[in-house]
Parts: sequence; C-alpha cells; structure tokens
Amino acid sequence: MAEKKLKKHLYRYKRYYVFIAITIVALVLPWIRINGNHFFLLNFDHMKVHLFFVKFDMQELYLMPFLLIMGFLGVFFMTTLGGRVWCGWACPQTIFRVIYRDLLKTKLLGIRKSIQNKQAPDKKGTTGKQIIAFVIWAILAFIAGANFIWYFVPPEDFLKYIQHPSEHMVMIGFIVGIAAFLIYDITKLKEDFCIYVCPYARVQSVMYDEETIQAVYDVGRGGQIYEVDPRTGVSIGKKKAHNRKELLAQDPDAECTYCEACVRVCPTHIDIREGTQLECINCLECADACTKVMGSLGKPSLIEWNSISAVKEHRRPKFLRFRTIAYGVALTVAFIALLWMSTTKEYMLLNVNRTTELYETEDHGKIVENAYIMLFQNTDNKDHKYYFTVLKEDKTPFKAIYVKKPNKPFPLSAGKKVKKIAVLATKEILAKDYKKDVTIPIIIKAYAVDDPKKIVVYRKTIFAFPRYDNLMKLRKEQSQ
Ligand code: SF4
Ligand code: SF4
Repeated sequence: MAEKKLKKHLYRYKRYYVFIAITIVALVLPWIRINGNHFFLLNFDHMKVHLFFVKFDMQELYLMPFLLIMGFLGVFFMTTLGGRVWCGWACPQTIFRVIYRDLLKTKLLGIRKSIQNKQAPDKKGTTGKQIIAFVIWAILAFIAGANFIWYFVPPEDFLKYIQHPSEHMVMIGFIVGIAAFLIYDITKLKEDFCIYVCPYARVQSVMYDEETIQAVYDVGRGGQIYEVDPRTGVSIGKKKAHNRKELLAQDPDAECTYCEACVRVCPTHIDIREGTQLECINCLECADACTKVMGSLGKPSLIEWNSISAVKEHRRPKFLRFRTIAYGVALTVAFIALLWMSTTKEYMLLNVNRTTELYETEDHGKIVENAYIMLFQNTDNKDHKYYFTVLKEDKTPFKAIYVKKPNKPFPLSAGKKVKKIAVLATKEILAKDYKKDVTIPIIIKAYAVDDPKKIVVYRKTIFAFPRYDNLMKLRKEQSQ
C-alpha cells in the first residue's frame, strides 16, 4: 500500500516505462519500411545505408561525418546536462540487468530475496531455479543478438537467410557471438562492465560541471558521513560517522537515519553519501530507497536527482548555461545539415572518365569525336530511363557538340549500375589553334528522362579538339 502511494514519486516505475518503450522501439523499428526503406540500416550485404527512410548508396558516404559529429555532440550534450542519464534510463546493459536480476531472479523465480537489496547473495539451494533463469536469459540474449543484427541485415533478408544458416555463417556467427557475450556479461560480469569496461564510464566525468544532474546526497540535511579534503571538498574515502549515534554526536540536526537502504539497493555497490563517484550509473535506486525511508517520517528524500549546486542552494538546477546551449546549438546545426543532406540526395550516380584516345576524326576530318566511359548507377527505388546532353561551362546547351552514342535513352533498374561507352561529336570548328590540340571544358548533364527535374546530375569534363592545321590537312587530302 505504501509503495502504491509512493509510486508516483519513485523513479523506478518511470524507468521501467522508459525501458519498455525503448525495448518496443528497438524490436519494432527494423520491421517498419516506407517505400521499401528503413529508419536506420547499415547494409553491407547490398552496400546500402538507410537513414530516416531514405536509401543511400555506400558511395554516398558524405553523410557519415554528419552522423559521427551528431553522435559525439549528442553524448557531450546529454552528459553535460544529465550526467549518466543514458546509463540509468536507456542503456541496454542496465535494461538487461533489471530483466535478469530484478524480474527473472527476484520477482519471478525468487532466487533473490528483494530488489531492495542488491548486495545480498542469491539464496542457497536454488540451483534448479538458477539454471532456469540462465536458460531464459540465454534465449533472450539470442533474441537481443538477432534484434541487433536487424540493423545490419534487414528483417526481410534475415528471415530468408535464417532458413539456410549454412550459407550465412557470418551472420549466424555474429548472432552467436553477441548472445554469448550478453550471457557472460549479464550473468557474470554484471555491473563490473559499467565500472571497468564501458568506455563511456571512463570519459563521462570530464563532461560534468556543478550543474550536471546526478544522484546527489544532501549533506546539509543528512549530515556528513565521510571525511572530506578541506581544500577540494571531495571525500577522502574514510567514514567520519559509522552509525546514527556518531552522526548525531557531530551534528544533532543530521536527518540521515543511517538505515543504509540506499547502500543496500545500489547495483554498483557504492555509498552515494560519499559524493559523486565514477561507479554511479544514475539508476536513482538510492533516491527511491531514501524516498521510502524519509517518506515514512514525513520528510523528503535526502538523495535527489539534481545538481550539486542546486542541492546546496535548495533550488532547481540550471539547464540553460553556456556549455549546454553551445552543445545544443551545435547539435541542432548538425541535425539540420544531416536532414538537408538526406533530402538533397542524388538519385543517380555518375562517373565520367575519358578513354586513352584524345580524339578521333571521321569523314576526313569533317567530324571530331571524343569517347568517354560513363558509369551510371540508379540509386532510386524505381526503374528509370537515362540519357544525357552536353552543356557549356555556364550550363547553357553546347549545341555544336552532340551525343553520337548511345543514340537513345537506356533503361536501368532500381539500385543497378551500367557502364556505357559514350561518344560526343562535333561537325563544327570549335577552335583555331595552329600550335596544339585544344581542350574545351564541357559539362555532362545526365538525367532520368521520366523525371528530369528530380533526377539529374552534372559532371565536368573536357572535349579535345585537334590542332587547326592538322585538321585542315585531313580535309584537304579528302578534297584532292
Ligand atoms: S536511505 Fe536515506 S536515510 Fe537511509 S542511510 Fe541512505 S541517505 Fe540515510
Ligand atoms: S549511487 Fe548506486 S543506486 Fe544511487 S544512482 Fe548511483 S548507482 Fe544507482
């Protein structure tokens, strides 16, 4: 009953709802397709990247720096603002540990006595139940492994591949590897992963400032439990008061009951009354534990989800400050740039290379031809017919040069490439140079004939025209 009344004040239930939402999104998102495209897919199989339901070719890797910049800025912004909010509210490691330790082992199988005591060992004589918990977790680990793979091998391919596992051993190997790691990590490594392995845990503390939100013990109300360095105000790791009596002796107004419910519930086995610690994953279990203890005395929790300065000064935290605004602005700019880049994507790719021959002449110098190797790629979801024209540098039509080959538009299926030998020709005198051949800058405008406004690309190249005297010699030979 007390828990029911307290429910709206406890972070635990709010975290559970977030865990459920994240799990549903992670499981369902890879199955959602719009125009055949996924929200996020890094598909090495077909060399494609899907982002915000738009498909990109791996050659369009100009998007990757934006994604990386956004990732880093997002981590900086989130950590400066909310500390290890990711760890406590969204990290798969935390979610999996809650599923295994609190749901499976404690609530469902009764191997552990209470979720309020994460320090206590498992009950004795529960080997059978331990095996059941292990097997259930192993199954869930394989589902999590497959779920992870769906962001690299889309579910529509995954369902086909899984029916012929021997032909897709790399994919199977990854799923088995991820599942094996998750089984070891969640059942044996536990929170040691957060403390010793996770790289984010190592770097996050440098992004903290006095206004970063975290689990904070209110020393002013609760009383000084640990001795602190007088210069830095940081704990020196030695207890000043070992029990309530000693605490009251040094501070008669100290409110901490010394029940240590906050210590027992901590999954990383720390005492938050010692101050900010690297091991704290911001799960706020200690805040909930103290809410219950102090709530029964009609007082607010001594452990708050707040900033150190705000707790000291009994105020709300300052979210808007120079660092958070700067990260927020940079993140918004990177996001807008990414959105803009993803909407201005090229629906076709074109590489234009000249052949080794500078030029050729036909009809005794009356026609000058240049040959090119063009690689067309249809990066759209639909089949199209493509063709191209020649423009001058100022993008006006270069009427004197015409496309001799291919002489008509050609079809190209969605996602396919084709190599074409293209021949551009002219019957006019484009330059009169008596000393050398002339290179004339041109632009190839290639487009889909069925959608020339949306699907169009421009590539710069040159058209080589022979020395005027050599050309005239050829023409004279013919007339004699
Ligand atoms: S739960 Fe609250 S009252 Fe109990 S020891 Fe922790 S801080 Fe003190
Ligand atoms: S001190 Fe422990 S219980 Fe409290 S937020 Fe940090 S990790 Fe969680």
